[in-house]
Amino acid sequence: MTEPSGSPVDLVVLGGGSGGYAAALRAAELGMTVVMIEKDKVGGTCLHRGCIPTKALLHSAETVEVIKESAQFGVNGTFESVDMGGVNKYKDKVVEGLFKGLTGLVKSRKIEVVQGHGRLVSPTAVEVEGRTIEARHVLLATGSVPRSIPGLEIDHARVINSDDALGMDTIPGSVVILGAGAIGCEFASVWRSFGAEVTIVEALPHLVPAEEESSSKLLERAFRKRGIKQELGARFEKVEHTDEGVRVHLEGGKTIDADLLLVAIGRGPVSKDLGYEQVGVEMQRGFVMVDAYCQTNIPTISAVGDLIPTLQLAHVGFGEGILVAERLAGLAVTPIDYDGVPRVTYSSPEVASVGLTRKAAEERGYEVVEATYDLAGNGKARILGTAGAVKVLASKDGPVIGVHMVGERVGELIAEAQLITNWEALPGEVAQLIHPHPTMSEAVGEAHLALAGKPLHSHA
Ligand SMILES: Cc1cc2nc3c(=O)[nH]c(=O)nc-3n(C[C@H](O)[C@H](O)[C@H](O)COP(=O)(O)OP(=O)(O)OC[C@H]3O[C@@H](n4cnc5c(N)ncnc54)[C@H](O)[C@@H]3O)c2cc1C
Repeated sequence: MTEPSGSPVDLVVLGGGSGGYAAALRAAELGMTVVMIEKDKVGGTCLHRGCIPTKALLHSAETVEVIKESAQFGVNGTFESVDMGGVNKYKDKVVEGLFKGLTGLVKSRKIEVVQGHGRLVSPTAVEVEGRTIEARHVLLATGSVPRSIPGLEIDHARVINSDDALGMDTIPGSVVILGAGAIGCEFASVWRSFGAEVTIVEALPHLVPAEEESSSKLLERAFRKRGIKQELGARFEKVEHTDEGVRVHLEGGKTIDADLLLVAIGRGPVSKDLGYEQVGVEMQRGFVMVDAYCQTNIPTISAVGDLIPTLQLAHVGFGEGILVAERLAGLAVTPIDYDGVPRVTYSSPEVASVGLTRKAAEERGYEVVEATYDLAGNGKARILGTAGAVKVLASKDGPVIGVHMVGERVGELIAEAQLITNWEALPGEVAQLIHPHPTMSEAVGEAHLALAGKPLHSHA
């Protein structure tokens, strides 16, 4: 028997990751009473096992590259070694600092955090640690965990997932990475900088296969130059444990020996045995199904983040969480335009995009025009020594519908491209805006100049 816990609160949130805590913060800001249930740490995957620790590792990796390449800039530095103890200390300090800040924020908004494993028990109640929390509304935000494929067992020693990879205190001599999405490419980038022999295996024909094909090709070229091996269009068959590590078998007979296999083929929703089906929440392949306002088939229950089949990104979780809180508070809300969400792979070089790929645009019936600006013509890119490009797609005689970039630091440029595509600017309108010189952002301006038919520093 569980204890009812008094009068219902306005909102109970199950899961304190990006989606859950964003909803909790916004709901509390709008005057709602909120209880958030978290079995591990508030902040979830992004803060503790995702975005933040990986970006800290990538920064350590970038530091290695800066030291190794310093002579190119006339600075004599000698690279000695990577101290994984030191790298982890730095990474953990960043995470810890943000965790402390977030905990303080949650407390300051008077959100009650209940530590424990929660379970949905009715359309308006969640049970946790022997207590039943009644609420006018329930938000499911239990997130996702790394997936594997049938027959491929993660032993957390030689065959690992991203959670294991983030906890490692040594650098592998060699590693095979299964899956060339953002997570796979980011670890490939880090480990290569740290000195490992890296091979990426991807069943689809390209790295970052969801991106514009030209971006994938630029990343493939850059990774090849960095010595990151790629088996593209190659299907994994099995992994065998050897005395030294693993032997990865691909269909067709090829084998690759390595110390480790990182399985980075995607993440699956956390929705099993949590009472969702019993209460009647509609689900498909483990995902909770929602309408454009993140409401499930049961009006009192909403769901956000990696648990629903939208883009698995922290900022999408934030956006969905805010949308739900505002809807429940009675504010007018607009459905999220998922095409307008920026996507970044923070490898070296970075890949960033917003809007449609050419293929998607053509499938939707657009007549597409495009211009590509090569970073070779950009002063700041030359100073930094980075290669890459900015590609802009527009509908013929119409607005910009997609921007696709590759190069160091382009992740910081995608916010401008986001405004351009989401506000449906015409290439000619963007061409009128003067970009600061010398910055990488000029490449965005130059691509639009070219598309508007008045290229400046390009041969288009
Ligand atoms: C290696 C890696 C790198 C990433 N990098 C980026 C990036 O750079 N940028 C980006 O935008 N996204 C990135 N992501 C994705 C991002 O982390 C997720 O999209 C985001 O965390 C999803 O948020 P969420 O709230 O849906 O779920 P989660 O963050 O997974 O949070 C769910 C929470 O619910 C809790 N929970 C689950 N079940 C229960 C239960 N029964 N009771 C109580 N609590 C429960 C969990 O403990 C967890 O804290 C990365 C992910 C990984 C793995």
